[in-house]
Amino acid sequence: MTSTTGTDVLHDLTSVLRDGLLDVVDLTTPLSADTPTLQLPAPYANLIDFSLEEVSAFDGGGPLWRHHNIHTGEHVGTHLDAPRHWISHADGDDVASVPVTRLVGPAMVVDRSADAARDPDFLLEVDHLREWEAEHGPLRAGGWLLYRTGWESRGGDRDAFLNVVDGVSRTPGISAECARWLAEETPVAGFGVETVGIDAGNGFSLDPPMPAHHHLLANDRYGVTSLRNLGLLPATGAVVVVAPLPIVGGTGSPARVLAFVPGRG
Ligand code: MN
Repeated sequence: MTSTTGTDVLHDLTSVLRDGLLDVVDLTTPLSADTPTLQLPAPYANLIDFSLEEVSAFDGGGPLWRHHNIHTGEHVGTHLDAPRHWISHADGDDVASVPVTRLVGPAMVVDRSADAARDPDFLLEVDHLREWEAEHGPLRAGGWLLYRTGWESRGGDRDAFLNVVDGVSRTPGISAECARWLAEETPVAGFGVETVGIDAGNGFSLDPPMPAHHHLLANDRYGVTSLRNLGLLPATGAVVVVAPLPIVGGTGSPARVLAFVPGRG
């Protein structure tokens, strides 16, 4: 029996990337002033959108360089929710303290885009995940459940993406029981969605309100939002890398999210 060392594995990884046996897929929404962001109804306070501010551009302030300030809320675009974001874990980890080993793991893609196309308020249920497990095996320890709803196709149109009807956002999410089950009875590290937040648009109407935030963050599971390209991932077999900025004290951060997938060689 041969033994494989970490050095061997890394050598193999760089080789297979070079040879195209693995591809890297970007699951991140580009970050700009046009990126759709959560709009809370009154009386709640909203974050600012992302913007770039030019500081110098090959001029008196910087004759050889161009650079910008960035202005942004934490929860803007593709971003990670850290435990201390929610009242259910107010003394939990900030985004800088989330162990990085939790941010890399097997990707498990559940595709309910047909349901979400029929019903924008579609909620993922425990039975849907048991159905997925019957086909693909148990949800894996340290893995990220990535919830495909087809919502990314609306990402270029803020109104369609937020889908506010009579003051309520109608976007797909996860039921309260499914959020509790995922957080308390499965070993996953995180839950990723295509929508603007990890809860349904009308998640305030559920019990507890915003159950994905409530249960996942309370149990040191993480959320990541506004994912794209989930359709390029197999149901199992990809590896996801979620990379938020280590903002000290931060409740979340814009993140780059990448996946390693089998390539065509
Ligand atoms: Mn968030």
